[in-house]
Order: sequence, then C-alpha cells, then structure tokens
Amino acid sequence: MTKVILPPQTIGIIGGGQLGQMLALSAKSMGYHVGILDPTPNSPAGQVSDFQMLAAYYDQAALIEFAKQVDVLTYEFENVDLAALKAATQFTELPQGTELLRLTRNRLVEKNNLRSLGIPTVNFIEISATTIAEQPQAIAQCLPGILKTTTGGYDGHGQCDVNTLEDIKAAAELYQAAPAILEKRISFEKEISVMVTIDGQGTVHIWPVVENIHANHILQTTIAPANVSDAVTGKVHQIAQTLAQAFELRGVLGIEMFVTANGEVLVNELAPRPHNSGHYSIEAVNVSQFEGHIRSIAGLPIAALTLQQPALMHNLLGDQLVQARTQLSHHPEWHFHDYGKAEIRPSRKLGHYTVLGNTNINQNLTWLAENKE
Ligand code: ADP
Ligand code: MG
Repeated sequence: MTKVILPPQTIGIIGGGQLGQMLALSAKSMGYHVGILDPTPNSPAGQVSDFQMLAAYYDQAALIEFAKQVDVLTYEFENVDLAALKAATQFTELPQGTELLRLTRNRLVEKNNLRSLGIPTVNFIEISATTIAEQPQAIAQCLPGILKTTTGGYDGHGQCDVNTLEDIKAAAELYQAAPAILEKRISFEKEISVMVTIDGQGTVHIWPVVENIHANHILQTTIAPANVSDAVTGKVHQIAQTLAQAFELRGVLGIEMFVTANGEVLVNELAPRPHNSGHYSIEAVNVSQFEGHIRSIAGLPIAALTLQQPALMHNLLGDQLVQARTQLSHHPEWHFHDYGKAEIRPSRKLGHYTVLGNTNINQNLTWLAENKE
C-alpha cells in the first residue's frame, strides 16, 4: 500500500514542462505544496508552483537536495537520470519507483518487455553493426520499416523511414553510439491510446479509449471517445489491466496503440506519466489524468471514471499558439491552455484547446479542415 500523503504536504515534480504544470495545478487545487526541479528558469510548471529548484535532471546532489524538501517525488518525463533518481529515493517516497522508468525509457527494453508479457507489438529487431552483419534475413522481415533510436526520441525525433538494408546503413548515425530498433512500418487503421492507474486502495482505473491523429509524427488532435468496436475496447482494457498489474502501477501510465484493419491492437509505446492524448480529461472526465496521477501517488482513492461529454483536444504547435490567441474572441467553446513557454519554436508544443460535445467537435473538425496547417 502506498503511504498516504495529505495536503498541505509537499509534492516534488521532476520536470517543469506542460505535464508538470497541469500536475501542479491539480495538486495546488487540492491544497498541496508543490516544488519543481527543472533547469529552465520560470518553467511552465514553476510558474504555478510554490518553488522551483533550478538543476539538471542528472545532477544527483540537486536531486537529493530536492528529495529532502518534499514528502513525495514524481516525474513527468522519461529522461531523468536513473542513478540520480535512485539515490534521491533514499530521502523521500517515489511511489512510481524506478523500474517502470527503466523499462519504458529504452524502446528495445520496452518492446522486449511487452513481448514477454504476451502483449502484441509490431515486428521489431535490434539494429547494430553486428546484427546487420549477422541477421540480414531477420532484418529484411522488418522492412519497410522505421529505424528509431532506443532512447531520447520524442515527437518523431531520432526516427527515419527505411526501405532497404542500404537505407539502414546510410542512417548509421542512429545506431553508432548505441543499438537502435527497427520496427516494421504498418498501415494501421487508427491510432488510439488509453491512460491507466492504480489508486491508493489498489483499484485499477482506466480512462476512456481515445483516438489520435498525428501529423509529421506529432500528435495533432485527440478525439474522445475513440470510434472503435467493443472488441477493440475489450482488448485495450485487457492490455491496460495487464500492464497496470505487472508494473504494480502508481501514477498514470499512457499506452499508445495501433488498430489494424482486422481489429488487432498493437502497443506502440508506453509513457510512465500523464500523456498528451489525455489532456481532454481535464474538462471531459470527472477525474482528469492529472488529478488521477496525484491521487495515485498520494495513496488516495479515485472515483469510478466517467466521460462526461465527448471531447476534441487540439495541440497548438509553434506559431499556431500565436494564431489561436488572436482567434480567442471567436471561440467561446474553446477551453484554452497556454503553457507559458518563453520561446516559440516551430513544432514545439506550446498549448492546446479542448472542445466538448458533438456539435462543437464537428464544427471544430470542419474549421480545422478549412484552416489546414
Ligand atoms: P514518439 O516517441 O516520437 O512518439 P512513436 O514511436 O510513438 O515515437 O512514433 C511517432 C508516430 O510515428 C506514431 O504515433 C505513428 O504515427 C508513427 N509510427 C511509429 N511507429 C510506427 C510503425 N511501426 N508503423 C507505422 N507508423 C508508426
Ligand atoms: Mg509516441
């Protein structure tokens, strides 16, 4: 059982981006004190928290110092240094533990783990100079494919499409420092995702299954609920249950999946934290993924989850945020979120909006089609 942490005790969040910000807002509204560790001054999460420690995610001394100042630690992203985090856990609680982080931060370890749990994935193989020399046939089975670095990739960074063994050799920079993963490129019918957690009483809670539309490998729009068959929903729930129990999950786990034309569900990747495709839950579910995450790590119960209204969430990348601000007076239906990032860079996730109800969803889909970015 997780230790119960009650307000006004202090929750320490490693990572000061938008996920940290929305976690902090949830925790603050419940009366917790919130501290952030992030190297960027005035980070999105730091802006809405009680204090921010400016430090790198691999700075073990800083992580230990931070741990001493908080009653419970959590992280909002995968790239925190594992050894430093482990050292910090001697000084405070880390209900999420470090094992799930270890399993999900490396795409090869993650997919091997999924395979060992009997969870379907796309076909994949490790790529290194050695496997290229020794297993060309097995590699050919995963072509045409997508070559991905095993760590540090996000929003399509560190990936490249490959059709032949020659293409793989030409992309050697992706597997020079460490082996990469080659995944068979599949033509899926839909991309879907789901968030799951286990609360302080040991009950598994699964948020609604949602449908995701990507552009240039970056999530653009999420629609809740996903338009999928009961059979697909059943498979997704089975996967979420299996993973939650296998990991003795605390905090939210995001599960990205592909649905194939014949109704197969393949897990693409896992995120050991709230997920971009769960932002709609702030307005559309009785308990948001952020409140659910906070309740889970604080050892509190979570009410049975219900989708209050169908929803559409649209990411605002780079200049789209600036444009959306100018449109605000025309869109009373937008639940508008601006993360307060200092720098506007192309393709950077700077904000999002959510609309509720089928009428607004359909109008927004039309509006998005007409204003195609
Ligand atoms: P990231 O960490 O960047 O989210 P993903 O592995 O989720 O990396 O890839 C980003 C997107 O690229 C996916 O959401 C999907 O649209 C596409 N993609 C990734 N892997 C495959 C695959 N094996 N087959 C087809 N499309 C894929
Ligand atoms: Mg992804």
